This record gives sequence, structure tokens and C-alpha cells, in this order.
Amino acid sequence: MIQTDTVVAISTPRGAGGIGVVRLSGSEALSIGRRIFRSQPPLGERVRHVEYGRVWAEGRAIDTGVAWAFVAPHSYTGEDTVEISCHGSMVVLESVVEEALRLGASSAGPGEFTRRAFLNGRLDLLEAEAVIDLIQASSKASLDNAYGLAGGRLSELVRKLKKRVVKALSLIEIGLDFSDADIDEIGRQEIRAELREVIEGSLRLAETFEGAKRRQEGYFVALIGRPNVGKSTLLNVLLGEDRAIVTPIPGTTRDLVEGKTVWSGQTMRLVDTAGIRQTDDPIEKEGIGRTSRAIDEADVVLAIFDSSAKWCDDDQIVLDLLPSEKSIAIFNKVDLPCILDRSKVEPRALSFVDISALTELGLEDLKRESATRIPQKMEIDGIGITRQRHQDCLMRAARSGTAAGKLLTDGQPDECVVVELQEALNALGEMLGERTDEDVLDAIFSEFCIGK
Ligand code: GDP
Repeated sequence: MIQTDTVVAISTPRGAGGIGVVRLSGSEALSIGRRIFRSQPPLGERVRHVEYGRVWAEGRAIDTGVAWAFVAPHSYTGEDTVEISCHGSMVVLESVVEEALRLGASSAGPGEFTRRAFLNGRLDLLEAEAVIDLIQASSKASLDNAYGLAGGRLSELVRKLKKRVVKALSLIEIGLDFSDADIDEIGRQEIRAELREVIEGSLRLAETFEGAKRRQEGYFVALIGRPNVGKSTLLNVLLGEDRAIVTPIPGTTRDLVEGKTVWSGQTMRLVDTAGIRQTDDPIEKEGIGRTSRAIDEADVVLAIFDSSAKWCDDDQIVLDLLPSEKSIAIFNKVDLPCILDRSKVEPRALSFVDISALTELGLEDLKRESATRIPQKMEIDGIGITRQRHQDCLMRAARSGTAAGKLLTDGQPDECVVVELQEALNALGEMLGERTDEDVLDAIFSEFCIGK
């Protein structure tokens, strides 16, 4: 059988009993699809109709199901596409794929359908990447962002920046074409105004990276406290699993133990740190060093004190480490008689929550209070960039815009300004995927799973 440009993959694998979809895309999708899926009328005769029929493989019917066809260019990939939905046992799904391979299709690589959509101009690169974000979204907040990106909101902002660079370029080129002298002062002012917008716009967008990354990966919540205050117990109950080892011997959590959970629609990355105390043990010292770094990096610090014990020097060390703007004091073990002198903590003007990790009292208050400490969203038009690649392109655009402005101010030849503006244009074009190497595309689409 001649190999065709058509690819096939299981698009929604499910266990036995569920529904699974096999997707075909390419110039032979319809002819291959019709040989596998037999219906009356045949698949694709009624465009955008769902047909009911039999699924054939190796010369016999193996299942019944439904299928639909989209005709190029009106499909996700921009090519002829067939989707066959059958009973989701892996045997059925794999038989359908094998039959398609026998009929000349090849196996789709990771993200191949989205890659084809990109290559056929159905999506730009930012929108294609957002499909990955949509698939991988772990919270409502990151889903909202991914949906905005997939809908082209970021692409629109980048195109607006590009337009400004093009305007600046055309103003210079008018000067180069029509006079021996360089562009006049009014022209220069106009160019500078466009450049300012490009630089500021690029930088503002670039700055959304940290916030969006945090939202995607989870806000960093560090649990700190002297040994034995109940950090590990608290982490376990918050994560609902035995992630940290709980023992009554002080100093057992020497490494950082972490897990993710979702509070109020936001992904939180909870990290149990080594207990803080005065020590000469080098391993424990290293653990405490890591705790200090974790405090620096954390978005929220939960400083845990044992309300059933007397205030001690180690509690004081913890208190002295606290950055007040992002810390919450947690008084644990309130199921026991409270003997801790709380007045030591109160002057630090932190918020306070009483809990019992053991009886799970006060945990909702703790979650609510933590959610209020999450850094304010840094977004533009409700979206933030989610990749280092985006930030690099935006920073390049900002740098070239700045360099172009300086050349203009210094009275350097307009041709030099043009070179910088071209570079800004390239950077923004690359961000949209207008000019992108195969290697870069391979790296981007390898993040996808097969079938998407
Ligand atoms: P860590 O060293 O701070 O991680 O503390 P652990 O989580 O290992 O807890 C130390 C001891 O305190 C264990 O015996 C826990 O069972 C106990 N503990 C933790 N939280 C509570 C609580 O809310 N109430 C009571 N009564 N005991 C607790």
C-alpha cells in the first residue's frame, strides 16, 4: 500500500466501556475512513453530519459507532478529517488504527494534528501552544488563561505591537525614499511615540510571565516552624495523603516535601520545610538553609506554632525569619490546652489562624486566609504569557525598540534604525510562529500527547 500524507491516532483513549475516538487527517482521510467506517449514506456525503454505522477491521465488522467528516479547509487541521467514535476498549481502538495504517495512513506524532493546524494557518503558534495549556490546565484560573490564549487574545496584542513597529518602519522608509535628508523632526517624534508603545507594551506583557507561570505551576506555600509543631501532619491533611513522614521525634523532616492541591480554584504547591532550630548537625543545617531559601521564594508562608507548648528559643528563630507581608501565623494543636504565650507573635502584625491538624479544625479558615495572600494577578486584558519563549521574544523586541530609539536620538543614519526595527519585527513574528525553525516546532509540539 502506498504511504499517504494521512495520519491516524487514538484521540480520546478510554478504558473498556467508555467511548474512544480515532482521528484521521490528510488527503486520504475520507477514503480510508469510509473503508473502516461503513454507513448509509457513506461517511462525508452529508458534510458535518454524524453517521451511524459499522466499524470494519481485518475484513470484518468489529464494532458499531458513529463518525463524522470535515472537508478541507473547514476542519481543525485544515485538511480532510474523519473522526470515528466507537466503544472505547483499547482492542477496538487499536484495531481501527492498525486498519488505517494498513490502508496507507501513518501514525500521528505528538501534537501532530495541532501542528498541521498551525502549518495550514488554522492557528498561530501562540494559539497552538495554548492548546497544550488547555489540556494541562490544573486549576480554573490556568484554564481561563489558556482559554484566552487559545482564543487569540495574546496573538492580538502581539499583532498590535507588530503594527506599531511596521508603522515606525514605514515612517522611516518614507523619509529614505523621498528626500536626501533624513526624516524630519515631526516624523522622528511620531516614530519615538510608536517605539515607546512597543517597548512598554512588550515589557508589560513580558512581566506577566512570573504570575502566569505561578498560576500554572501552583502558588508556592511554605510551611515553616520548629520541629514537632505539626508541619508534616498539616501537610498530610491538606493534601489528603501521606506525603510527609509524621513522627514524634523532632527534626525528622530534613528535606523539602511537597504536593499540589487546589484552593478556591487556584493551584497551590505546598512545601513542608525542615524544622527550624539551633543545631550543629551539618545535614540539619543544610535543611535549614534550604528552608530560608524556600521562605524567600514562597508566595505565602505558613508559620506554625504549637499552642500546647511553651514559647521557646526555636520559635523565636522562626519568628525572626518571617517576612510579615506574606506570612500567616498558624496556632496548631488547639485540641489540647493552650499554653503558648501568643503575645510574642502578635506584634509582628501577621494574621492568625487557630487549627488542629489532628482533628482538622480550622483548615477552611487557613485555606481562605492563604488565598487572600496570593500575589495580585499581573495580567493584561485578562491574560498572561506562559512560556519562556514568549518572554524571550518580547524582551528582544523591547531591546531592539530601545536601541532603535537611541540611534534615532543620537542622530545615527536611518538605515541603522531600520536594522533594529527589523529585529523587533522578527522577534514578534517569531513569537506568533511566522518564522520558526523546525527544531523549535519539534520542541513545542513534543509537549503534546499523541492524538491532539
Ligand atoms: P513536624 O516535626 O513539625 O513535622 O511535626 P509532626 O507533624 O511530625 O508532628 C509532631 C507530633 O505532633 C506528632 O506526634 C503529631 O501527631 C502531633 N500533632 C500534630 N498536629 C497535632 C494536633 O493538631 N493536635 C495534637 N494533639 N497533636 C498533633
